[in-house]
Amino acid sequence: MRISVIGTGYLGAVHAACMSSLGHEVVGYDTDSAKVETLSRGVSPFFEPEFEELLQSALATGQLRFTSSAEEAVRGAKLHFICVGTPQQLGSDAADLRFVDAAVQTVADLADCDGLIVGKSTVPVGTAQRLADRLGGAPRLELAWNPEFLREGKAVRDTLHPDRLVFGVTSQHAEKSLLEVYGTIINDGTPYITTDLATAEMVKVAANSFLATKISFINAMAEVCEVANADVVTLSQALGYDERIGRRFLNAGLGFGGGCLPKDIRAFSARAGELGASDALTFLREIDKINMRRRDKVVAVAGAMLGGDFLSKNVAVLGAAFKPNSDDVRDSPALNVAAAMHLKGAAVRVHDPRAIPNARLRFPTLTYCPIIEDACRNTDLIVLATEWDEYRNIDPRTFLSIAREPRLLDARNAVDHDFWSEAGWQVYALGRGVLNA
Ligand code: NAD
Repeated sequence: MRISVIGTGYLGAVHAACMSSLGHEVVGYDTDSAKVETLSRGVSPFFEPEFEELLQSALATGQLRFTSSAEEAVRGAKLHFICVGTPQQLGSDAADLRFVDAAVQTVADLADCDGLIVGKSTVPVGTAQRLADRLGGAPRLELAWNPEFLREGKAVRDTLHPDRLVFGVTSQHAEKSLLEVYGTIINDGTPYITTDLATAEMVKVAANSFLATKISFINAMAEVCEVANADVVTLSQALGYDERIGRRFLNAGLGFGGGCLPKDIRAFSARAGELGASDALTFLREIDKINMRRRDKVVAVAGAMLGGDFLSKNVAVLGAAFKPNSDDVRDSPALNVAAAMHLKGAAVRVHDPRAIPNARLRFPTLTYCPIIEDACRNTDLIVLATEWDEYRNIDPRTFLSIAREPRLLDARNAVDHDFWSEAGWQVYALGRGVLNA
């Protein structure tokens, strides 16, 4: 099938390459011509495991192209995936839908044959119906919503082998088109659910709200563990054995960030308010607050470990990306903590295996070190802020001679604390407290 993908950021670029690998002819369009040029050369504008290889092989078949011409992408396509951003509005919790509105309008203006517009961006419930109401005339364009659940760091696998597909449609014809475009994935056994537009939109924001709630739940338990001298790591292990609860997303730490969860739960609350159901989601505000409090907690613990004063102290922050296996620094807890300590007077050096270029753009005043040892040299404190595997492999015995003071604040409960303590480090782990003195 001939497909257009409107918006080729994290979601759209991966989606375009994956759809092409399934045998479709795909043209990706983005208003950012630098991104188009990079993708066209087979270079990924972001770090995403497996993506660049897939991109290059898809480009080599001639079945995948990227363009800055909307017309070139839209004309001749039977299905148009809308993958543009839906950031938080400035000064409000609501989603900024300008890009989605513009993308749908572009397709409506340029389409030269009947087709289906398929929204993948995460939008407030009611958006799809509002957009569908605007479509009309000839050629005949229908609208469907097919929310995306991919995780950065596992985006290719999640796109090609998703847990489920959700099709929000208003006609059998739309469902048939989606079954056709995802035929290979469905034949592999992926379950799919066909529903109305509003429910499809809700599935995505409800899933993100649930995940955010689970993370903040264990972080709230961590807060209590810290004052009760209990151990949140053991607590989550014990909770996780209960099948009704499950172990995943129960890792206490610095909390969630990134380009999705924070803005999605805020936009969901804002939308519920507009619909007169704000009481139903007041708990999401608490989830957000618990999450943001973790960042303050790490800064406070860091200060205490440094004797109450950040001035003249060298601090290494390990991690800049909002999570491992990604170079995405949007709303990164690690960078927020690094910047806060820097503002308090510490000399902060940040290491990250992949995210330094993006981090430097957002926080140019911080110092960045591509080598872990350089970041940790002569430090008074190491803060482990993103749980990259590299950090689990650090040998605390060799790092003893690098640091000025052997202090580790493990904000992700990522390393073997006994190993570090035995090597002579003072270790503070979030939700476990000081593990030795
Ligand atoms: P992004 O900012 O990386 O990409 C958005 C792209 O859209 C940019 O390249 C931008 O230039 C382009 N764009 C904006 N307006 C355009 C227009 N009118 N026409 C063509 N291109 C346009 O964002 P993202 O992370 O890919 O997220 C996109 C959407 O997918 C959001 O709604 C997000 O919530 C959702 N989502 C993202 C992920 C993720 O992990 N990143 C996962 C699931 C869902």
